[in-house]
Amino acid sequence: MSIRDQFPILNQTVYGKPLVYFDNAATTQKPQSVIDTLCHYYTSLNSNIHRGAHHLAVQATEAYEETRREVQAFINARHAHEIVFTRGTTESINLVASSFGQQYLHPGDEVIVSAMEHHSNIVPWQLACQRQGATLRTIPFSDQGILDLQAFQNLLNEHTRIVAVNHVSNTLGTVNPIVDIVNIAHSHGVPVLVDGAQSISHMVVDVQALGCDFYCFSGHKMYAPMGIGVLYGREELLDTLPPYQGGGEMIKDVTFERTTYNELPFRFEAGTPSVGDVLGLHAAIDFMRETGIDTIAAHEKDLTDYATMKMEEIEGLRIIGTAPHKTSVISFLVGNAHPYDVGTLLDKLGIAVRTGHHCTQPIMDRYGIPGTVRASFAIYNTREEVDTFIAALRRIVPMLM
Ligand code: PLP
Repeated sequence: MSIRDQFPILNQTVYGKPLVYFDNAATTQKPQSVIDTLCHYYTSLNSNIHRGAHHLAVQATEAYEETRREVQAFINARHAHEIVFTRGTTESINLVASSFGQQYLHPGDEVIVSAMEHHSNIVPWQLACQRQGATLRTIPFSDQGILDLQAFQNLLNEHTRIVAVNHVSNTLGTVNPIVDIVNIAHSHGVPVLVDGAQSISHMVVDVQALGCDFYCFSGHKMYAPMGIGVLYGREELLDTLPPYQGGGEMIKDVTFERTTYNELPFRFEAGTPSVGDVLGLHAAIDFMRETGIDTIAAHEKDLTDYATMKMEEIEGLRIIGTAPHKTSVISFLVGNAHPYDVGTLLDKLGIAVRTGHHCTQPIMDRYGIPGTVRASFAIYNTREEVDTFIAALRRIVPMLM
């Protein structure tokens, strides 16, 4: 079966036009194998894990733990217990901001994030800083959308406790130099959290090669179901953090006087997890491996280069985020038109894009714009769809100028 045929949702019309789904940075569609896995789980395997002596519970537990090992291999973590299942990137970052903040942030300390973060990698740190009396500092970026590493070096000082940056910006598409950032931070003894929400589906991620201390991502942006995500934490650091949530599974012994906590990774997985979605994540990783991550990256680069070239030919259209090293995200504006108007007109032609601030209001403030229109590609998109998109833009742009 062709890659595209594995995604049944794409085979539909919108307002009588074939659906062109270019909103992949928000969430990717799911291949049949992931859908079948969910169906199989609820048809044949559903059971609460870890606590049951019966057949179904044992099988579900094995499949759940097997996925943990699959994720470990997928991102080349040293140990399976460095993989914590969460609901998504947002929860992974909140977990670290909360637990790390409680353990390591004190009045007068500083946390560094970049100015191109998603709100998910800003607000949890703001909350942690407010609770602990610490200060949030930001790494600026250039007009092209490139982080200023000199400014970053200047921000680091003896008060810095952690650096949190995205691997890829969801608005600008910039691929950030994580190895350089990690090396600089580590030379000051400062750990680094990487928000991998926008990188995990586009490139090989090797957490040991990156050298980062935490890496966070969401299943739903990498062909897996919604509601499942991952926190990778380097054992030596993760093991020093206090629990994030209390409840079942994360404990060793509970009395009313005193509770002792479970070992990694269970200490951070309170309550019943979304087992079916975890198995769906396994199927999504299988899909990506079978397709080939290099194949995915090459195809998306071709679509991005092709679309960028065609868009640059359209007068009145301005691309926001022009770093040389980008993933398949193209943010743009048409004259002074509001992004929402462009998105609505494209929608009427069957083309799904995202409009607005993309949960990155500081980026919009940096450029002095209200938002952008964002087209983002995945492995199942085609050059023909890009042609349809360009033809639509050529119709729309004169109407808005
Ligand atoms: N970080 C980045 C860079 C993102 O693009 C997103 C989602 O768009 C998130 C974090 C939050 O991901 P989720 O909503 O899946 O938790």
